[in-house]
Amino acid sequence: MTIGILKEIHDHRVVMLPEIVKTFVNMHVSVIVEQGAGEKAFAKDEEYKAVGATIATREEVYTQADILAKITPFTSEELRLLKPGQMIIAILNPLANKAYVEELMQRNVTAFGLDVVPRTTRAQAMDVLSSMATVAGYKAVLTAANTLSKFFPMFMTAAGTIKPSKVLILGAGVAGLQAIATSRKLGGVVEVFDVRAAVKEEVMSLGAKFVEVEGATDDSSAGGYAVEQTEAFKAKQAQAIHDSAVKSNVVICTAQIPGRPAPLLLKKETVEEMTPGSVIVDLASSTGGNCELTRDNETIVHKGVTIIGNSNFASELPTSASRMFGTNVLNFLKLIIDKEGKLNLNFEDDIVKGTCVTHGGQVMSERVKSFLHL
Ligand code: NAD
Repeated sequence: MTIGILKEIHDHRVVMLPEIVKTFVNMHVSVIVEQGAGEKAFAKDEEYKAVGATIATREEVYTQADILAKITPFTSEELRLLKPGQMIIAILNPLANKAYVEELMQRNVTAFGLDVVPRTTRAQAMDVLSSMATVAGYKAVLTAANTLSKFFPMFMTAAGTIKPSKVLILGAGVAGLQAIATSRKLGGVVEVFDVRAAVKEEVMSLGAKFVEVEGATDDSSAGGYAVEQTEAFKAKQAQAIHDSAVKSNVVICTAQIPGRPAPLLLKKETVEEMTPGSVIVDLASSTGGNCELTRDNETIVHKGVTIIGNSNFASELPTSASRMFGTNVLNFLKLIIDKEGKLNLNFEDDIVKGTCVTHGGQVMSERVKSFLHL
């Protein structure tokens, strides 16, 4: 069994750092690494070689590996390079891209989508979305603090007392909770909105205020995720968010609904009532953003308020992000590689089946199948 590690094109992370490769080598698995794959995450080719990997060209990796691993989705061009029987593992974003899933079926690829690992207790150690959201929530707050025109913590100095910054966090999933924790460590006063009432206690235990809006559709059958809300709820929530946002110095937007556009929670009019010098960081920018003015991968200033649209903060912390990602991948691959280093695809295992987007020209993951009506 050979695992191939591919270099990311527009990302600083690498799917596995040398320490993870070492574990695979100890499991009798060969690892072939594309030249310079770890460069931007500060992992040199020599370090991969030192733990037993082979360094090769991109073409050689595609020719020799049984499982090709990367972080970002394989493009159509990359899928064309695959040989029959080869497997891929990456974030594949299948819920938002039916045509892509159909392409994987047509090409008969065995594709594992790390972003559809079931969210069960046993699968927690394989959950790349949680890992990357942790990085993003942390980095979003540091970026906001760096951009903000005032201090985060309260200061009592001879030059007077400075009030702490007010932080509003939209969405208290993994990224939101990390953003709360980081804001609190910096001394911010934090208010939080989420449609899932289940998060209230977690929010409060981190020292933030949970602003409740009654009437949310909290669908417990959605695997812990949020679902679309009614128009009446949206109107009530919009008013409550407006009232909180105009008093805030920082807004961190993290609200998402899997496979759907991000909910629009922060209107242009609200931003225009915020104090100039304030900052909005929108982590949901790649799916449209929570703020009406967000532009993905851009920073704009609107009437003195800076709006940063960035859904890929994980790439800005490549060492930690790659370490977490690689550990998640290792934990997943241990389910399909046996002790002799041989492939053991057991679709009776709910994690293996749930993570497998396509195999043998069919969609394996029930969640992907029902979501895309396939
Ligand atoms: P996510 O990125 O899909 O969404 C982020 C947050 O936005 C969620 O908390 C969601 O409720 C919230 N949101 C969506 N629409 C909103 C709206 N209109 N207004 C306000 N907030 C809105 O979520 P996530 O961080 O990937 O995880 C969601 C949850 O899944 C976690 O909090 C947890 O309960 C569960 N989870 C379970 C496991 C596990 O058991 N293995 C692992 C990770 C997460």
